[in-house]
Amino acid sequence: MVARQLVRRGIGDPRVLAAMASVPREEFVPDDRRRDAYRDGALRIGGGQTISQPWVVAFMAQLLELRGTELVLEVGTGSGYAAAVLSELCAGVIAIERDPALADAASTRLDKLGYASVEVRTGDGARGAPDQAPFGGISVAAVAQNDAPRALREQLAPGAALICPVRAGDDERLIRIRDGGWEPFSAVRFVPLVTGDG
Ligand code: SAH
Repeated sequence: MVARQLVRRGIGDPRVLAAMASVPREEFVPDDRRRDAYRDGALRIGGGQTISQPWVVAFMAQLLELRGTELVLEVGTGSGYAAAVLSELCAGVIAIERDPALADAASTRLDKLGYASVEVRTGDGARGAPDQAPFGGISVAAVAQNDAPRALREQLAPGAALICPVRAGDDERLIRIRDGGWEPFSAVRFVPLVTGDG
């Protein structure tokens, strides 16, 4: 997976490649999909949700440019896979998932696998985690309309990056926001970021 899917598509950060090689992706997919765990695509994980394609997880992690000392916020934890990858690249991860069943399953799985630096919370991740802000990086795994949620932009430390898929009309792509600047990257597909009462 690392050589065929990641290096070939331009993932060059050795820390990200090492993290992708070390996290056992098969532990994050349902038992009947384990064979497909390393396939070059997203996989369904139940509840209508998906575990992101390996390349997308690696690309988002690379865009964060983590050094290892940061506290990172992950929104849309799903299976917990991306949170596990991020935890290999920073000091700690606050991971927020709105679906309580998915959040419980992710928390149990991460504990069992020994990812002790990840704290899973249930709730609306678009509000962030003000009690732990500012963050040294924020990664959002669900698509926002027109802009990244304001609360998340406000919870970024100076120099830290917020990576978020943003939909504007028919265009859906990854955006990096850092020090008020906005950089567009690859076109992507994510499930919607559900906020408020939705
Ligand atoms: N990163 C995940 C994939 C996540 S799929 C993985 O590695 O497996 C996107 C997830 O975002 C879904 O589980 C969905 O329930 C969640 N989600 C959507 N809106 C949310 C919100 N406002 N706050 C937290 N989680 C949200």
